[in-house]
Amino acid sequence: MTASPLDNSRGVYVDKLTAQALRNLPKIDEMAAQDIFSNSELTLPEELIVKVCREVVDEERNKLLEQEDYEPLSSEDLLKQAYSQALSLARPNLRTCVNAAGVVIHTNMGRSVLSEDAAKAVYEVARSYSNLELNVKSGLRGNRHNHIEGIIKELTGAEAALVVNNNAAAVMLVLNELAKGKEAIISRGELIEIGGSFRIPAIMDMSNAHMVEVGTTNKTHLYDYQNTISEETSIFLKVHPSNYRIVGFQESVDPVELCNLAHEHGIYVYEDQGSGVLVNLEDYGLPHERTVEEAIAEGIDLVSFSGDKLLGSAQAGIIVGKKELIERLKKNQMLRALRPDKLTLTALEHTLLTYRDTKKALRDIPTLRMLTKSYDETHIESENFISRLKSKLSQDALKDVELESLKEVSRAGGGALPAIDIATSLVLVHSKRWTATQMKDCMRLQFEEPIICRIIDDALALDLRTVLSPEQTEYILDCLVTVLETEPK
Ligand SMILES: *Cc1c(COP(=O)(O)O)cnc(C)c1O
Repeated sequence: MTASPLDNSRGVYVDKLTAQALRNLPKIDEMAAQDIFSNSELTLPEELIVKVCREVVDEERNKLLEQEDYEPLSSEDLLKQAYSQALSLARPNLRTCVNAAGVVIHTNMGRSVLSEDAAKAVYEVARSYSNLELNVKSGLRGNRHNHIEGIIKELTGAEAALVVNNNAAAVMLVLNELAKGKEAIISRGELIEIGGSFRIPAIMDMSNAHMVEVGTTNKTHLYDYQNTISEETSIFLKVHPSNYRIVGFQESVDPVELCNLAHEHGIYVYEDQGSGVLVNLEDYGLPHERTVEEAIAEGIDLVSFSGDKLLGSAQAGIIVGKKELIERLKKNQMLRALRPDKLTLTALEHTLLTYRDTKKALRDIPTLRMLTKSYDETHIESENFISRLKSKLSQDALKDVELESLKEVSRAGGGALPAIDIATSLVLVHSKRWTATQMKDCMRLQFEEPIICRIIDDALALDLRTVLSPEQTEYILDCLVTVLETEPK
């Protein structure tokens, strides 16, 4: 490279070509004034458009100065780059996605989807005043915690109930109230981490409870608890192992026996159920999950569970159990920081009301509907999808793809029903032009609403179980056609 005597603003000597490219860089003001930015889609203030243009041009200048043999971009390409950055700046980051991955309670995709009814109710309450803390009868101050206690009691058979922000908050509140400065006994088989670094021992620490472990990872007996009880013991903590399962040589203590032992010694039993099921899933082709009602009937003093896992509603932690204990929780100062907002309470109340009619719950609550969809139903859906896709593709594109349905499994996800396989029919897309990874990335990146898929056997795999509507199916079809009609860049 021959150095040109030209000295640019940084005092760096550059060759002639680079000098020319630097002179050719667009002027920021002219670039920001281009028609493309007055496009109606874009609602960005002018300063931000100027800022984006400057960033793009600066980056290009740096590359020209720092990288040898750098091929300069045309003004048109720079404009395109600035436009796409302006677009993504204008668009909210949190937006809807299409779940074609077949994980029903997908933690990364916001867990449960609200029922139509609950979503509408949230919309109404969001744009209006409400009686959140108003007692309409007396005209005096009311209590937000009262609205849904009744329906929770009705559905679970518990004496009392309280809702907090999420189940992690529920665990903290209960331990803080019942085990602060005292001992909480937990089986080593239940000392879990639930993802997002929610670890039982850490929560214990934060609640100032002293944790005492008993038993072994695979086996804990009643006498393990019995031999460990001391003056300081205030609760036995039972935790649902959620996203893992010990199979084979395994034993845990019968809950009724555990409750009897605890109550003889004035100790409370608290069970963190994680998912919290209100209907007997066994009746609908899924393995039995102990319901909240069963736990209460067995004598557990307090049970807590999430609102957005198997329950199928908004993020919340629901605590049910003995009235005397719930009253104590209601007086705990921590509750003020953990209380749910009106949108959550509305979603939850409407979801819970749906549970009065099990048939309706299974039909209208998306989480339950998707989990209980039969293999046969999914098979019909994937065969339909394949024939629709074939009819939409050009002959030219069609000869480069191979489509088939495959019997595979969907997952409940969200630490619910661990390791349970739900038989499902997948659509597999093999392509001569595209690798599976390329197709998967395109489906996620190339369209307005990201479509999340899986890869199986080097093919793009779509699980329609978690696709929410015929409109979404149509959207996936159109996007997939767009991909398959083209070649990878
Ligand atoms: C998911 C889960 C939690 C945390 O619940 P969040 O509602 O996500 O806060 C706590 N315990 C168990 C056993 C869980 O499965």
